[in-house]
Amino acid sequence: MAEKKKPVETLEEQIIASRAEYRDLIRTGLDEQIKTISERLAGGNRDGEEIVTIKALAAALDYVFEQPVPAPSVHAAEVLSPAMIFVSPVCPKCGVTDTAIMLNVSSVLTVDSDGSEIKLKGKSKARTHICGQMTLLEGDGQTTINDILGD
Ligand SMILES: [Zn+2]
Repeated sequence: MAEKKKPVETLEEQIIASRAEYRDLIRTGLDEQIKTISERLAGGNRDGEEIVTIKALAAALDYVFEQPVPAPSVHAAEVLSPAMIFVSPVCPKCGVTDTAIMLNVSSVLTVDSDGSEIKLKGKSKARTHICGQMTLLEGDGQTTINDILGD
């Protein structure tokens, strides 16, 4: 019986799952490349042995690591504080995703007679939002009203 994949529930599990997916992506890419670059030796005491030259391996590694990597997750990130995270807010009322807002995260240490605690503090600016209204595409700054409305 095939092992059933456990559903990802917590943010930490999501980050771990993202890393596992990334490892699988790299491993699969390397496996495919190795198959195409391996050569079989003919003659000598290593006759029939499969080899990979360093030149071919370097080219294969370049190829694999040049491939686009999908975002690990759209809901999880792992950062060190202080951190700046760009978050695209989804309106809880209309469900429209608004333009990304920068979230600054810092750590705060509180020390009292019981000991010390560390926690995170997030700060962001509010943005005007009209429910149901899609955001304009971010352009090169040269967009005119005619570009949006058409001719
Ligand atoms: Zn809304």
